[in-house]
Amino acid sequence: MAILVVGGAGYIGSHAVSELRAKGQEVVVFDNLEQGNSQAIGDAPFFKGDLRKTADVRKVFQAHAIDAVLHCASRSLIGESMQMPERYYETNVSGTLNLLTAMQTAGVKNLVFCSSGAIYGEPERIPIEEDHPQSPISVYGHTKQCVEKMLEWFDTIYGLKSVVLRCFNAAGADPSGRIGELHAQETHLIPLAIDAAMGSRDYVPLFGTDYPTRDGSCVRDYVHVCDIADAHMRALDWLAAGKPSAVFNIGRGSGVSVREIVEAVEKISGKKIPFQAEPGRPGDPAILIARSQEAKQALGWKPKFTDITAIIETAFKWQTGAAKTWA
Ligand code: UDP
Repeated sequence: MAILVVGGAGYIGSHAVSELRAKGQEVVVFDNLEQGNSQAIGDAPFFKGDLRKTADVRKVFQAHAIDAVLHCASRSLIGESMQMPERYYETNVSGTLNLLTAMQTAGVKNLVFCSSGAIYGEPERIPIEEDHPQSPISVYGHTKQCVEKMLEWFDTIYGLKSVVLRCFNAAGADPSGRIGELHAQETHLIPLAIDAAMGSRDYVPLFGTDYPTRDGSCVRDYVHVCDIADAHMRALDWLAAGKPSAVFNIGRGSGVSVREIVEAVEKISGKKIPFQAEPGRPGDPAILIARSQEAKQALGWKPKFTDITAIIETAFKWQTGAAKTWA
């Protein structure tokens, strides 16, 4: 029996596939390759399909014996979600509904869903606990909230068990340098800062300089993508052990500002990075820092990468190495 990794050619999905295969677990990657990279799949069994197409989703369950699903496929750009909301509801909400329906038809009962810290909106308390009120301020965050609600009902009505992992800012790359973050149109801070350090872009835009934070720029909880992949493994084990549906924050519990990220990349690269102050991005809260105590206690999860410099070093190795042969 295989684990179906939906979005397995994407950033988080490909690292989860790598972990699963390292454990000798059979996998099937489902991806439309719109945002994912074919190189990230390597020689893993691959089913090219689109979540928005019910026939594609149905077919993958007919073609393979699937034990459980890791759902890592989504549109995930906060800025874009505030310009093209329909795209986000279509892929993230409607696409996930197709997936849940196909799982129900196929009798597959276990799902790990990669959710987001964006579900909370502007936090009332830091660090954020799982029961913190949810008031997403971006369309992206709202799509994650919609799915989480659907999952609750699919459990109540059909007994579909899920573990929701509210991942904060995924960062870094597999330490081997073999896979990492790569988007055709890069918008994420760390890859952009590395590009600017390496001279392939002129500057990094600094979105917002007057947030109520220590240096005026946004503070985020950057957590290594391999630690996120590890949380997915533990969530699968949780479900395989017959435990109930659950929700966990996944973050390091430590905030880093945009300016601090740029400084860290400067140190690692030994290059000065020009930045340009720009208005804050709609949909961005000032601070997001997770409390991940529940994941630690229930799943035994603990981030191996505890230091932002070590995290960015893995991204730097990837971006100045193998990523160039993919682009
Ligand atoms: N950010 C920025 N300039 C950029 C890209 C991002 O200042 O060119 C900021 C963004 O406003 C946010 C943080 O960096 O506060 C992380 O953004 P990113 O897009 O990397 O991840 P997201 O939080 O959107 O998932």
